[in-house]
Amino acid sequence: MRFFLVHILLLLFQNIHLLNITTMISEKLQNAIKEQITAEMWSANLYMSMSLYLKAEGFDGFAHWMKLQSQEELEHAYTMADYVIKRGGRVTVDKVDVVPTGWGSPLEVFEHVYQHECHVSQLIDNLVDVASAEKDKATQDFLWSFVREQVEEEATAQGIVERIRKMGDGAICYLDGQLGQRK
Ligand code: MG
Repeated sequence: MRFFLVHILLLLFQNIHLLNITTMISEKLQNAIKEQITAEMWSANLYMSMSLYLKAEGFDGFAHWMKLQSQEELEHAYTMADYVIKRGGRVTVDKVDVVPTGWGSPLEVFEHVYQHECHVSQLIDNLVDVASAEKDKATQDFLWSFVREQVEEEATAQGIVERIRKMGDGAICYLDGQLGQRK
């Protein structure tokens, strides 16, 4: 009987233990990632705004490229949120500030994309610094994929800017068709 009672108590303890989900990510780091999620959503809105602008200007290919770019940014926000939840943290959707709505030529739009991606790279670097200060190796490892992603984003945007500059206005329709093939 005594053994039976001990056994029941043990089972109860084990179940209570299972209900306690441990948070494996600090409050400070959770907040920093939450800020980055808002920044990714702002990026998604910025590229959507650019897409709508380019579409209205008659550049269907550039508009398509920018739409996919916008969707990618939203995916980044989801990936970061999923990670925080996986580590036992909590995230909520925050207010997103308004984005610009008007530009000039497609060159001007892509110069803005390049500048913005450089800014995002800085934000991701700062986030790695927070994870490092919190001695959170798993989050640092998670963030390296975004550091690598930014290298690609900067190179892609810079490449498009250089192509528009070199080819000039006469070839803008050709480039519009090329970027419209993005999958
Ligand atoms: Mg991003």
